[in-house]
Amino acid sequence: MHTKRLVEKDPALKKDDLIVITGAGGFIAGNLARYFQKKGFTRIRAVDKKPLYEWYLPVAGVENICLDVSHEEHCHRVCEGAVEVYNLAADMGGMGFIERFRVECLRSILINTHMVEAAYRAGARRYFYSSSACAYNTLLQQDPNVRALKESDAYPAMAERGYGWEKLVSEMFCEEYWHERGMKTAIARFHNVYGPNGTWDGGREKAPAALCRKVIQALDTGNKEITIWGDGHQTRSFMYIDDCVKGIDKIMHEDSLIATPINLGSSELVSINDLLSKVEKIAGVTLKRNYDLTAPRGVAGRNSDNTFIKKMLKWEPNTTLDKGLAETYKWINVQYHNRKKGKRVVE
Ligand code: NAD
Repeated sequence: MHTKRLVEKDPALKKDDLIVITGAGGFIAGNLARYFQKKGFTRIRAVDKKPLYEWYLPVAGVENICLDVSHEEHCHRVCEGAVEVYNLAADMGGMGFIERFRVECLRSILINTHMVEAAYRAGARRYFYSSSACAYNTLLQQDPNVRALKESDAYPAMAERGYGWEKLVSEMFCEEYWHERGMKTAIARFHNVYGPNGTWDGGREKAPAALCRKVIQALDTGNKEITIWGDGHQTRSFMYIDDCVKGIDKIMHEDSLIATPINLGSSELVSINDLLSKVEKIAGVTLKRNYDLTAPRGVAGRNSDNTFIKKMLKWEPNTTLDKGLAETYKWINVQYHNRKKGKRVVE
């Protein structure tokens, strides 16, 4: 039998308290490890199932471990001594991936199920879970002129098949570990995140990275055409990576948000057509657009309602798309040309 913990006011996190971050070979968690290291935390354990040479952003001076955290015994090893645990490991990608590999997405349920239990048993003070806007009811996202999604829009539930349901059920685990067992949990519903050091080729990349790469490729090959998935009218908002890691830190350490799912996303809505125009402007080129209406396109529209986060944190993600895209384009351009020269790059 598990007993509920007595929850006392936490002392401030000390610089040598152990922070565990899973999925750290990937985009967001890699950036999170670097963020905490820059803040002066000296004991960070970064975990991913990928071999180290495939990590996007291996951070020097951090304990980097290659382990698959869908196995319970690995989770206990990973959480040993942890004061805070950030679980960002998941088998995921852009629409092309999550519409095609629903079983893989659903199987990520094993990761959070074992990680949250291991964190609890290890006596971790706080546990963070990276949920997604895909947890929202898809019936509310059938029009490109969407009403932004607010936190209560997840129920009644009709989440994205596979990926979205995994997120919703994992959220529920996190909520109950607080209500029933007294472990402080934080749950952020990320809306599309983009930026340097993310996936930019290979099938898991998302729209901003994919469009940057396609524009770079068009410039490089001289074939001034581009294929867009869907009719280009679908709308989304995109959050820059620096805002994402800052938001994770803020949400995790706000007691009034314990076990309370909250949007972490930009509210700057853009159509895919307009997103491409922005990338074209950065690149100084205009391409002929071809629309692939058979390609995966996801919901028609999705935006983040930031009323709640602004109220709770007096803050919201605020890097403009123009600024973030310029950084992202610059970074992908370097990767593209390095790869062409035969240098090893992580995609
Ligand atoms: P990512 O694919 O770059 O990183 C995820 C990492 O998890 C990968 O490196 C992968 O190898 C690792 N992983 C997968 N299964 C694992 C396992 N069993 N054991 C150990 N490591 C494992 O993805 P990301 O964009 O950094 O996303 C991080 C988290 O944020 C995920 O939970 C994702 O669902 C969520 N999220 C991301 C976005 C986004 O736009 N990027 C949006 C919503 C939610």
